[in-house]
Amino acid sequence: MYEQLALYIDGNFTRDGERQQQDVINPATGVTIGKLPHATRADLDQALEAAQNAFETWRKSSPLDRSKVLRRVAELARERVDGIARNITMDGGKTLAEAKGEVMGAAEHAEWHAEECRRTYGRVIPPRAPHIRQITVREPVGVCAAFTPWNFPFVLSMRKIAAAIGAGCTLVMKGPEESPSAVVALARLFHDAGLPPGCLNIVWGIPSEVSEYLITSPIVRKVSFTGSIPVGKHLAALAAARMKRITMELGGHSPVLVFEDAEIEKAAQTLAILKMRHAGQVCMAPSRFYVHEKVYDRFLDGLTKALSTLTVGDGLLPDTNMGPLVRERRVHAMETLVSDSVERGAKIIFGGERLKRDGFFFPPTVMTEVSDTAKVMMEEPFGPVVPVARFSDTDDVLRRANSVPYGLASYVFTGSLKTSRYVSSNLEAGMVNINHFGIALAETPMGGVKESGIGSEGGTETFEGYFLTKFISEAS
Ligand code: NAD
Repeated sequence: MYEQLALYIDGNFTRDGERQQQDVINPATGVTIGKLPHATRADLDQALEAAQNAFETWRKSSPLDRSKVLRRVAELARERVDGIARNITMDGGKTLAEAKGEVMGAAEHAEWHAEECRRTYGRVIPPRAPHIRQITVREPVGVCAAFTPWNFPFVLSMRKIAAAIGAGCTLVMKGPEESPSAVVALARLFHDAGLPPGCLNIVWGIPSEVSEYLITSPIVRKVSFTGSIPVGKHLAALAAARMKRITMELGGHSPVLVFEDAEIEKAAQTLAILKMRHAGQVCMAPSRFYVHEKVYDRFLDGLTKALSTLTVGDGLLPDTNMGPLVRERRVHAMETLVSDSVERGAKIIFGGERLKRDGFFFPPTVMTEVSDTAKVMMEEPFGPVVPVARFSDTDDVLRRANSVPYGLASYVFTGSLKTSRYVSSNLEAGMVNINHFGIALAETPMGGVKESGIGSEGGTETFEGYFLTKFISEAS
């Protein structure tokens, strides 16, 4: 049974009434599996009002009580992992193993926020006179509007909800209409964990209309968005015009630097698996490959060998290693990137054409001799396409790696400590992986620089966007 999709407003799950509905499609089959109710203006107003009313109480709740709710959410997520994961695979396309990993990872995020929210300390500042006491306290920002994407609907929504709720804020969240089951499941977890009505509200609709309505509402004091850079800039501009705080987790186009002294076969194997997670639809996926010319052929050999072991198919099937793309538009995007690269001199050595079957399948694809001016080297591909280029000089490859406006993740493979230190301090990226993948854990901050975003989620930084600092100076 697929999730019973609904709005969640002021503690109630609602789906009936005179509301528009949208089809939810299984990307592995193209078949409609559910109907998603859109919020009316009255629903949005009710959600905002509920969040505002709930804030008056929730802001005064003790961090210990907030922590208890978040811990219970983590327990419930683990208990319900199988059903939630199955629905994530059905409406988002990732494999069942990936979906389970996402839910279990999100449970860790809930726990991390449960722990950290009890440590959101202020400061005592030494005064200039003995009868003065100076302190800072951290107060919750207020009602937040949050927008989350389809590629990791459960964990990315969990991070925003856990941070807002842990800080004493309340929120209205618009989840991804493409893959909504995870966000409805999350609302059920928080509801069952005892979160008071109105603290979390979930709405659906036309993204541009809902986001504009929520962000321009005077009730909303903070905006948090994960998604593409163009949409992020638009929402940030709406927020800036009203001086609202923002957290922006936006797209990336992560460079991969493979040096001649790296363990080449291991690097190729690691990168093949990492790159094809959720068919490459991951903001921090390795996506521009620069390989030292002395190991170029060996690396390509290892990469194509590793990719040829992957089975592409319906994520619900046990043998599947890579599922479909989320929608037909993403298949077109891959076709455009491949044909543009070939026109500029690239060679396809693996994959290259959509798979002729139902659903939205594009295979792992490797292109060599890709020009730095090809679209795929300049725009986030968000799919299973691997462009590989050569390099010979470290400073030159750093210049090429830093030449795009993106600055999210980056990957370096080298056997030299000196190279790893030099490159990691000169890469313009919010996160650097050296010889492995080690980011996006609950206890580590995730965030981008340049156009990839503002603020961090996870780590001790996670609450920064949800608190105001108030300074109090008191004379006795
Ligand atoms: P898209 O830009 O059309 O949509 C991305 C998401 O943003 C969708 O879920 C959409 O509903 C939402 N959206 C679009 N306009 C909006 C608005 N005005 N207000 C609020 N939400 C809005 O792109 P797409 O084809 O769905 O996905 C590909 C692109 O999405 C990639 O290039 C990638 O940058 C981006 N993306 C990034 C992440 C991430 O984790 N950073 C996640 C998913 C998608």
